[in-house]
Amino acid sequence: MSSDALKLYNTLTRAKEEFRPLDAANVRMYVCGPTVYDDAHIGNARPLIVFDVLFRLLRHVYGESHVAYVRNITDVDDKINARAAERGVSIRELTEETNAIFQDDAKALGCLEPTAQPRATEHIADMIAIVEKLIAGGHAYVADGNVLFDVPSWKEYGGLSRRPLDEMLAGARVDVAPYKRSDMDFVLWKPSKEGEPAWDSPWGRGRPGWHLECSAMSWRRLGEVFDIHGGGVDLVFPHHENEIAQTRCAFGHKVMANYWLHNGFLQVEGEKMSKSLGNFVTIHELLTSWKGYSWPGSVIRFAMLQTHYRQPIDWTLARLEEASVRLSEFRARAYTAPVCEPSRRLIEALSDDLNTPEAIVELNRLFDDLKRHPLDWEKAGELKASCEFLGLNIGQVDLNQMLRAARGDLDETLIERQISARHAARAAKNWAESDRIRDELARLGVALHDNKDGRTTWEVRR
Ligand SMILES: [Zn+2]
Repeated sequence: MSSDALKLYNTLTRAKEEFRPLDAANVRMYVCGPTVYDDAHIGNARPLIVFDVLFRLLRHVYGESHVAYVRNITDVDDKINARAAERGVSIRELTEETNAIFQDDAKALGCLEPTAQPRATEHIADMIAIVEKLIAGGHAYVADGNVLFDVPSWKEYGGLSRRPLDEMLAGARVDVAPYKRSDMDFVLWKPSKEGEPAWDSPWGRGRPGWHLECSAMSWRRLGEVFDIHGGGVDLVFPHHENEIAQTRCAFGHKVMANYWLHNGFLQVEGEKMSKSLGNFVTIHELLTSWKGYSWPGSVIRFAMLQTHYRQPIDWTLARLEEASVRLSEFRARAYTAPVCEPSRRLIEALSDDLNTPEAIVELNRLFDDLKRHPLDWEKAGELKASCEFLGLNIGQVDLNQMLRAARGDLDETLIERQISARHAARAAKNWAESDRIRDELARLGVALHDNKDGRTTWEVRR
């Protein structure tokens, strides 16, 4: 194994392996995308960013036109039906609106557009074709208008998650139904109730199960076997396990994808993120207003990449603040530099199972070097190119974006609220807090003036 060969940790084998594509002229990656019923949260931002870094690296190694990256859009799902009914809008309106916000979020986070973003509803015929193959092969059966995958019919079930059978059975009991032969059997196709989206099928009007959607879209867009399948670690079981069962039983290959990559969990300020805990944060909120500030996408991205993708991540205000300061320092030194080649050590770090913390060590080393040689344009260009390789835009455009955010998205009431908080701090003689608020606003380009009459006014500085 040469030192700069791309190595990836494969959940399938539980080992870091050298990446060998099936066809170097057509490297193929599939990543499970969003179910478009609600704004994507910060946990959803993690796979977006992680697999975007991998996409960039693959394009660097194999050439831009030789990498296919498919990220699906799940636009038929029970959660979508429920939310549309709750809001009194059509399913189409809800999925279009949610998808538009998702696309904006991904762009703001510096993610390249995948080569294809198929919608589940465009692939219903492919789903029906897979179900027919499964029934013909004795791996699926019809019961009460449902079609179910017959888990005991396939001895290799559970190979990805390596879960003991009794554990899988316990999980399956959450979803018992009298028509299931085994509790572990899962739905491939189900009948639709009045008013729900429905398609004609050999088993009556109905709709697909979620797992089936990814088997159909990956098959149609990338083939029966492809290179990389990615997603969050929470998808390993049952979602990816079921995708594998469907695809392998339908097409009869030894694998569905050769490399299975999973990013770790994300929690917020040390706690599991949940709506009931009140710490639920969407990407859109971060970009517009979180903890009193609007955070540029590059800051969110940089904060995310500080942690290796397989490790759990704790999303904190301190993490964002640190990332924000560091990126401004990089920007101040390098934004006008000519773009040149990214650092070789950065590529090596990323080639070692996407070791982004190590890649950031290299960015810091380049920066320290540049501080000692501030007029060395080559070094400045290398820092800039290395940031851009990671999808971190430190060019002038981003600087303007920050200013725009300070003028537009950061609304006036938020600034006023910060000023009130600062007044309260001053009244309590908490000068450190008062200074902290003033400095943070200054970082966003908002300057405060304390007038003689005790009022504080503010202006946005260019
Ligand atoms: Zn999927």
